[in-house]
Amino acid sequence: NQSVVLAQHPKGSVILADFRIEKQVLPALNEGEILIENHWLSIDPYVRPRLNKDMSMVNPIPLGGVIQGEAIGFIIESKNPQVAAGQWVFLLSTWQRYFVTNGKNTIILPLPDSPLPKSVFLGPVGTAGRAAYFGMDRIARPKAGETVVISAASGAVGSIAGQIAKMAGAHVVGIAGGDKKCRYVVDTLGFDACVDYKTKDFKVQLRQACQEGVDVYFENVGGKIATFVAQLLNEGARVPVCGNISEYNKGGDMKTSGPEQFFQSLPSAPHAQFFLVTQWLKDYPESDAWLLHAVESGQIKYRETMHAGLEQAPQAFIDLFDGLNMGKQLVKI
Ligand code: NDP
Repeated sequence: NQSVVLAQHPKGSVILADFRIEKQVLPALNEGEILIENHWLSIDPYVRPRLNKDMSMVNPIPLGGVIQGEAIGFIIESKNPQVAAGQWVFLLSTWQRYFVTNGKNTIILPLPDSPLPKSVFLGPVGTAGRAAYFGMDRIARPKAGETVVISAASGAVGSIAGQIAKMAGAHVVGIAGGDKKCRYVVDTLGFDACVDYKTKDFKVQLRQACQEGVDVYFENVGGKIATFVAQLLNEGARVPVCGNISEYNKGGDMKTSGPEQFFQSLPSAPHAQFFLVTQWLKDYPESDAWLLHAVESGQIKYRETMHAGLEQAPQAFIDLFDGLNMGKQLVKI
């Protein structure tokens, strides 16, 4: 087997030396175990806080531990009566070619029949799409004519969140790094506008794009961008706090109350709510059916940035923090 493990805890920005590739001989399966061959790995920003002990949003990964992440895999052998071999699945897995599990403390969901490439179940019909769907449907609830701002707008979650808000009839403004991403967000994804936060007059441009203020801010990045959007929020605004990637390399406690409290303390007193998509696990059939239909019918568009080979996973992960991905960041094993 081939695995990517944590070689050292990152100090600030992640570097390649924080990871190590290891090879192991695959043991024979014990009773109750399942052997899955991972074909695509999802590369996700939320793995970053797990690489340090003191950023304990969720269980930290120990030194020498295999990095955890979602995957699409094929069950090649099963000694577990509840899970049949010979099927494609979405699973909470590890950065490994082969994943052995007894089915406990993980999620294994069979993939539905679909003409779409299987990798969509890690992107627009996977966790990214679900985060967009539930953040919009359960927290933001955009109405026709309202102004919705989405940060990391060209990314896996942001791109879907903005398209859902467009379908609700909102005026949708993206924020992204660079002209190429902004053009994609407007020309391909159909947002009404997109502002490049790396330009000098970002604030002027964002104000112009949001002339009636902001009713929904879908928060993916935090930091200076969030602080500025906060000034534009209207009374009654909603802020689904999906993540704050600009803070992930800074260390410290990543617990959830900070961004919520920041937004709630504003004079406009918006309804800000941090969420983890897994809190709606029992509702995945609802989100997945909706997202699958929207992607199959072409109503929702998506992009992938695909890296070849498990050994590329660390670089693909680092690239997320340098904004080098467009859409969903993936590794094809
Ligand atoms: P993306 O595909 O959006 O990739 C990350 C993007 O973030 C980069 O391409 C870059 O885009 C942007 N970015 C990186 N660093 C900075 C920075 N310092 N300032 C501003 N923008 C930055 O990733 P995802 O769609 O997978 O994740 C987006 C957010 O959603 C993350 O915060 C993640 O943690 C969160 N998330 C939360 C979930 C939940 O259950 N709550 C589930 C899944 C994701 P650009 O070039 O535009 O800067």
